[in-house]
Amino acid sequence: MVIKRYIMTPGPTPIPSFVNTSMQSLIHHRTDEFRDVIYSCRKMLKEYFQTKNEVAIFTSSGTGAMEASISNTMCAGDKIVTVEGGKFGERWGKIAKSFGIKNIPLKVEYGDYARPEDIKRIIDSEKNIKGVYIQASETSTGTFHPVDEIGIMLKEDYSDILYVVDGITAVGVMDVKPDEWGIDVLISGSQKALMLPPGLSFISVSNKARDFMKRSKLPHYYFDIEGELSKKDTLFTPAITLFLGLKRSLEYILYEEGLRNTIRRHGLLAHAVRESVKAMGLKLLSKRPADSLTAVISPENINSSNIVKIMKDECGVQISNGQGDLKGKIFRISHMGYVDKPDIIMAIGALEIALKKSGYHFSLGQGTQRLLEIFSDG
Ligand SMILES: *Cc1c(COP(=O)(O)O)cnc(C)c1O
Repeated sequence: MVIKRYIMTPGPTPIPSFVNTSMQSLIHHRTDEFRDVIYSCRKMLKEYFQTKNEVAIFTSSGTGAMEASISNTMCAGDKIVTVEGGKFGERWGKIAKSFGIKNIPLKVEYGDYARPEDIKRIIDSEKNIKGVYIQASETSTGTFHPVDEIGIMLKEDYSDILYVVDGITAVGVMDVKPDEWGIDVLISGSQKALMLPPGLSFISVSNKARDFMKRSKLPHYYFDIEGELSKKDTLFTPAITLFLGLKRSLEYILYEEGLRNTIRRHGLLAHAVRESVKAMGLKLLSKRPADSLTAVISPENINSSNIVKIMKDECGVQISNGQGDLKGKIFRISHMGYVDKPDIIMAIGALEIALKKSGYHFSLGQGTQRLLEIFSDG
């Protein structure tokens, strides 16, 4: 039987053929031609990030930029708040510890979101908090934290605290406004909404963040934000082909689809997925779902690993299991990046087949019917 492959995971995401073809020829990186590529990428990234701040590019997966946001701004012994409501939030704590930074975690139950007042309480009871580190979208639970409200609270009451947001599955998906929300450092990566292979990370820095960078004394060498921004080149050999792909994908998002439309499309697809899984009697894990992916609680007595496996084996549709403690308990369907309505119709159809085969009681077509209603409405 023919089994085509469809990638519906929250990273990596599908790569459009026009992005693939843009990455076929290698040019040398110490040339004016490549400097032009870097220049346009940095310029377009500012538009994509919706910021007036500069954006540095690293050849690394997203975690490299997360690490840089600590190693370039803090000093040994500094204290930060890390919002930990899933695997990626917990990563903040691990990076902090490895650099000798004291992190005060705000533990958030998986699927729940951080409240501004909880962060405020920690800041007021701990003295000398230097930074607040959070995810916009916590990919392990599919949750969108209220990074706008938190940012505005910090801007008004604690303007000397650095506000760092991992926007890896939020930038280019939802309307994230770093300058209005007082986000000093915003991070993204290539293999999510940017429709590229893994290997590039991005980090924007406000003037306040650059002041923090001046006083920072933590060791770092490869991940040097100010060093990258100070040159027309990259400091080291970059992933040249990915830069070529980045230029093409940014042109597509900004000038062909248009960022407003990109964000609107993600909103529609996310809404459609949430409604169709609910129509099958399933429950979402998140109390405040992100538009990049949907985390669904596996029906009672059905291991989600089974659902993931059947979807892949029968239909070639790769979705994601839960991570860590959530493994076997939830499954995650991504609708981020180069995804359209037919992709979603296929994914929900494949999910129905997998649920039926796993022994879940519902009538086939319940989810798909709701989906088609949404897509044919208006
Ligand atoms: C994917 C992702 C990262 C980065 O992970 P890498 O494997 O280093 O690319 C960081 N934060 C979030 C929220 C993510 O979804």
